[in-house]
Amino acid sequence: MKPIRYISTRGEQVPLTFKDAVMTGLARDGGLLIPDRIPDVSDQLESWQALDYPDLAFEVMRLFMDDLSDEQLRRLIQAAYASFASAEVTPVRKVGEHYILELFHGPTLAFKDVALQFLGQLFEEILEERNGRLNIVAATSGDTGSAAIAGVRGQKRIHIFVMHPYGRVSPLQERQMTSVLDDNVFNLAVEGSFDDCQGIMKSLFTDLPFKDQYALGTVNSVNWARVLSQIVYYVYAAFRVMEETDAPAVQFAVPTGNFGDILAGWYAKQMGLPIRRLVLATNENDILSRFFHTGVYARGTVVPTISPSMDIQVASNFERWLYYKVGSNPKEIVRLMDQFSREGRLAIPRDASGRVDEEIVAGSSDTRRTLATIEKIHQNNGYLLDPHTAAGVFVAEQYNDLDDPMICLATAHPAKFAKAIQDATGKDLAHHPLLDALMDAPTRCEVISNSVDAVKAYVAQRAI
Ligand SMILES: *Cc1c(COP(=O)(O)O)cnc(C)c1O
Repeated sequence: MKPIRYISTRGEQVPLTFKDAVMTGLARDGGLLIPDRIPDVSDQLESWQALDYPDLAFEVMRLFMDDLSDEQLRRLIQAAYASFASAEVTPVRKVGEHYILELFHGPTLAFKDVALQFLGQLFEEILEERNGRLNIVAATSGDTGSAAIAGVRGQKRIHIFVMHPYGRVSPLQERQMTSVLDDNVFNLAVEGSFDDCQGIMKSLFTDLPFKDQYALGTVNSVNWARVLSQIVYYVYAAFRVMEETDAPAVQFAVPTGNFGDILAGWYAKQMGLPIRRLVLATNENDILSRFFHTGVYARGTVVPTISPSMDIQVASNFERWLYYKVGSNPKEIVRLMDQFSREGRLAIPRDASGRVDEEIVAGSSDTRRTLATIEKIHQNNGYLLDPHTAAGVFVAEQYNDLDDPMICLATAHPAKFAKAIQDATGKDLAHHPLLDALMDAPTRCEVISNSVDAVKAYVAQRAI
């Protein structure tokens, strides 16, 4: 078969191998990198059913690359998932009528570990081979920073610089980042907002001489390796639940921010996994939910909520899905994305029955409903949902018209959002020993002024 290559949604990028796609992140024409075909695995599914998580990950991921050896890929997967507290990596639990797919057993207790533990291993392998180095610069309002740091801490060829807005991330999230004392980790508390941090980051990456001189790289969710590693747990969970229920197909409910997680489920469906439909859940920041009801994707202003990792208005991975939706037509994507950047709005036509899409349905939750869902599931089932997961469960319950079992993705451990649990249940119930231990841990962090030049100078001095 023809080797798989990565092309841009905007059509102007020479095709890349898997490794080059991973190192490139965003395509040079501003588009997102996607595989030039989606493998169909319908015939293989049966033979994969009994595989454990690492073996399944190997089978799924190797279809998307031809420049890592089987031995290398197996080793990277083993190393990535050895850090997980559950031998199953992503176990599924029956909770009432739902199945909960627990994605939070990694080192920072959020689903981003599933992708970033693997990406960290992958970076290290590629940099060794190429005798390269990488300076990762990231801006975070919470979860991404700590998962990225956990993915690359201690590596010899990588320095990581993570900016967070000074005094504006939760004390727990701040400690998850700043208590990592490895020499290659640099935490910067910027005297500004999260938007300021993102603005600084953008300035560094658009200064091409600076970017090239210091070999800057990113770990954000447009990196293809992140989407790829997330496809695995959809397959894994579908097998577990179909086995238990004898159902021919399943549904997934996905709490969504940047559209990375649900996109992985969409790829799994295109590969032939029997997913009846995907249920997309947002919080009050509901641009995606509105889109799947109206066909209009219109930017709003971000409001802070109790599920901060979903507080996003422009979903960076949406362009990948849209590309397929408009018939894999890069010219149409360029037109739509240009329009969106000019007018803050784009629209696609609905089908004859008024639907935007057959595979994805959507809904939104809000603080009151999310807290009520946490309380209800705790009362009825003795199980604690974090507020992101609870938003997903709430929306899943609005879509109870099909018989296929519903698998709700649990994206964070409840102890990461202990205040919401307390608000919902009236009790201080959510703890985790890893997080409790952080309260007395030594930390390291540099406060820096809200200035591109200050951050540039800092990075230049400490870059590898
Ligand atoms: C990042 C994150 C999400 C959203 O995932 P996307 O891939 O951005 O859609 C949901 N919940 C938690 C806890 C997260 O950290």
